[in-house]
Amino acid sequence: MSSRSEKRRAAWAALGRGGDAGGSSRAPFLGIHFTCCGIYGRIYRTRDRRAYEGRCPRCLARLRVPIGDGGVAQRFFRAI
Ligand SMILES: [Zn+2]
Repeated sequence: MSSRSEKRRAAWAALGRGGDAGGSSRAPFLGIHFTCCGIYGRIYRTRDRRAYEGRCPRCLARLRVPIGDGGVAQRFFRAI
């Protein structure tokens, strides 16, 4: 009786898996706590993969985080 809805659910699950789940080993964004406004957001990796760049979602201050050897250890930044 409920097999039909179960099939549909499985189809949706398969669709969801095809997105950005697999692929690159590292996420192209960095979770950031914007201390300027006390909120959490994310900034994205630049094309040359040497830094993360983005803006505070609230005050739109620019933030750039250079990527050193082995990545970025720090997770809390203040956008200036
Ligand atoms: Zn801010």
